[in-house]
Amino acid sequence: MSLIVQKFGGTSVANADRLKNVARIVTDTYKKGNSVVVVVSAQGDTTDDLIKKAAEINENPSSREMDVLLSSGEQISMSLLAMAIQKLGFPVVSLTGWQAGFSTKPEHGNARITKINTSRLKRELESKKIVIVAGFQGLNKFDDITTLGRGGSDTSAVAISAALHADLCQIYTDVDGVYTADPRLVKNAIKLDEISFDEMLELATLGAQVLHNRSVEMAKRYNINLEVLSSLENVPGTKVKEKIKMEKLLIRGVTRDDDIARIALLNIPDEPGFAYRIFSLMGKHNINVDIILQSIGRDSTKDISFTVPIDQMDLATNVLEKEKSSIGMGEIQVSDSVSKVSVVGAGMQSNPGVAAKLFEALFDAEINIHMISTSEIKISVLIDKKDSARAVDVIHEKFFD
Ligand code: ADP
Ligand code: ASP
Ligand code: MG
Repeated sequence: MSLIVQKFGGTSVANADRLKNVARIVTDTYKKGNSVVVVVSAQGDTTDDLIKKAAEINENPSSREMDVLLSSGEQISMSLLAMAIQKLGFPVVSLTGWQAGFSTKPEHGNARITKINTSRLKRELESKKIVIVAGFQGLNKFDDITTLGRGGSDTSAVAISAALHADLCQIYTDVDGVYTADPRLVKNAIKLDEISFDEMLELATLGAQVLHNRSVEMAKRYNINLEVLSSLENVPGTKVKEKIKMEKLLIRGVTRDDDIARIALLNIPDEPGFAYRIFSLMGKHNINVDIILQSIGRDSTKDISFTVPIDQMDLATNVLEKEKSSIGMGEIQVSDSVSKVSVVGAGMQSNPGVAAKLFEALFDAEINIHMISTSEIKISVLIDKKDSARAVDVIHEKFFD
C-alpha cells in the first residue's frame, strides 16, 4: 500500500463533469489499496473572478481581506469534490488549509509554508478516508488566513507529500506533461518523459506556469517523487526528479515571461558604492531584482539597468525617486513593454554554442536584444514585449526542428 498525493488544478475541477471525472481518478487510486490525499485548486477562473469582484468594490483592499476572499475558491472545489466522491460510495472528508495543519509566514498574498501539523491528516487517513485539502492556503501566527501566491496549490501538494513522506505526488493538469515550450503556444512543442528538478525549477521560475516554482524547490529539497500528468487523458506524464537519463538535447525548454519591467538609472557617478546603495535599497523593500546590466563608465558617469516583476515596478520606482537625490542619481527610466525569453537545459554546460544559436535565431527574425543574462543551465534575453511570442517560436524551431 502506498500513500499518494494527487493535485488537481482549476481546469480539472471546472464543472460538475470534470469533478466527477476527478472523483473517478481518485477512487480508482483508493480502490487499489492506496491512501490518498487530494489537493484542489479553485474551479476554472474563480480566482481571477474573485480578484475582479474585489476591484469593483475597492481598488486597494487590504491584503488580509484579499486572502480571506481568494481562499474561498478552493473551499468550493474541496466540498464539491467530496460530494462527488460520496456519491460514488467512498469515505471522504474535505479540510481547509488550516484544518489540514498548514502554518505560514505572516505576509499575505505570497506566504511561505513554515510547517504542517499532520495530526488531523494522519487521523483521517488512519480511519481510511480519502482526504481532500484546499490548496493555496494556510494560517499565519496571528491566526489570519494567508494564500501562497498564484499557482500555489502545487506547493500545497508537494508540502503535504514531504510532511507525510508520500510515495508519489501527482500534479494533474490540463496538459499531459511538461513540454519543451508551452504546448498551447508552440505547436511543435515536444513532451518530455522526464526533467531534472534544477531544469524544472528554472523553467517554472522563468515563466512556464505548469508548476509553481516553489513546489519544485520543495520537491528537490525533500526528493519528492513528482509527476505532471493530464486529468483529461490517461497517458503517461512527465517525471520530475533529481537525476535523469542524459539525452542529446542541448536544451530542455524555451519560456517567456511578459510580466516584468526594466528600470534604467542613467548618469550615475562612476564611483564605488552606487550598485551597493541601489540594490540594498531594493533588498530592503523585498523587491526581486533579476537581470542587471551596467554600462562602461564615460565622462565619470555610468548607467545601471535591471528588471523587476511588473507588480513591483511602481514600488521600485517610488523608492528610487524618493532616494534619488541622496543617492546622487541622474535620470530614472521605466519600461513595461519588455519581456524575458529564456532557454533552459543542463546540456548547455557541456555544449558550447548554445548562446550563439539563440542569438542567431533572434538575428534571423530581426529581434533586438536589450539585455542578456546567463547561468550554468539557462540563458535569458530581454526583448520588446511585442516580439516575445515570435521569439519563443523561432528559438524553439532553431533548437528542436
Ligand atoms: P492548473 O490549473 O492545472 O494548475 P496551470 O494553468 O497552472 O494549470 O498550468 C498548466 C498550463 O501551463 C498549461 O495549460 C500550459 O498552457 C502552461 N505551460 C506553460 N509552459 C508549459 C510547458 N513548458 N509545458 C507544459 N505546460 C506549460
Ligand atoms: N487558485 C489559485 C490560483 O489561481 C491557486 C492555484 O490554482 O494553484 O492561482
Ligand atoms: Mg497551476
